[in-house]
Amino acid sequence: MIFGGIEAGGTKWVCAVGSTPDDVLETLVFPTGRPDETIARAAGFFASHSTLAAVGVGSFGPIDLHRTSPTWGRITTTPKPGWADTDLFSTLSATLHVPLAFDTDVNAAALGEHRWGAAVGLETFCYVTVGTGIGGGGMANGRLMHGLLHPELGHMRIPHDLSVDPFAGICPYHGDCFEGLASGEAIRRRWSLSPGEPLPEDAVQLEAEYLALGLVNLVAVLSPQRIIVGGGVMNEPSLIELVRARLRALAAGYFDTPRLSDRIDDYVVRPALGDRAGVLGAFELARLAVDGAD
Ligand code: ZN
Repeated sequence: MIFGGIEAGGTKWVCAVGSTPDDVLETLVFPTGRPDETIARAAGFFASHSTLAAVGVGSFGPIDLHRTSPTWGRITTTPKPGWADTDLFSTLSATLHVPLAFDTDVNAAALGEHRWGAAVGLETFCYVTVGTGIGGGGMANGRLMHGLLHPELGHMRIPHDLSVDPFAGICPYHGDCFEGLASGEAIRRRWSLSPGEPLPEDAVQLEAEYLALGLVNLVAVLSPQRIIVGGGVMNEPSLIELVRARLRALAAGYFDTPRLSDRIDDYVVRPALGDRAGVLGAFELARLAVDGAD
């Protein structure tokens, strides 16, 4: 079977047709514009493929994932201009005429890593992306995490020592939440960096501290068997080693497992599927919509 996958991001959309990482037939990447034109562009891409069994969508959010809700498949309260209350599901299904599956972009990426990447065989793990914003999803006991809404790891609160970092944070809802302090946009504004400018050493150190604070909370709350960290900020070469070292220090020997000490290199890892995790996970969302769970 051939599936469609959409990684609907706040910055760009990735649309692809295929079934596995080794069988991607066509990919289209374009910047996120207005909702109507962006959705129409994605629909136009898939219109030329008449044999799709289903299309999976991993979307930025927050999105309503409750099947019984009247607003199911909608992007809800996003601060992204023009996108609040966008009915992604109805608009796509009206043009595609195939089964659609929806989840968050980070849950889709987690699902891709579970099927083919760094989380194969794991039951409880987190996928965290540190890019323009911070998002996170994953599985608990073998199922993608949903719940009251869905996890919003980027909006957890972490300690913020104003004497070290007087920056107020950028989250329009919370100021100095995790995303408000540690997202790529927060780094850019705190240090007045232009796009693509390398990070000053102080910025890398502070970022590692904030990321480790976020991750140690995940360890304490969810007990993930592994944490996968993706997103553009993690492309900073020295960052992941610093995060591992700070996480190990913050764990402080309390969590009695070598995964948080000698084997931490195998605990906090980059996505095995790289920046394709989201769109490949969207294939898997689509497959599950047709086949059901394994
Ligand atoms: Zn926030």
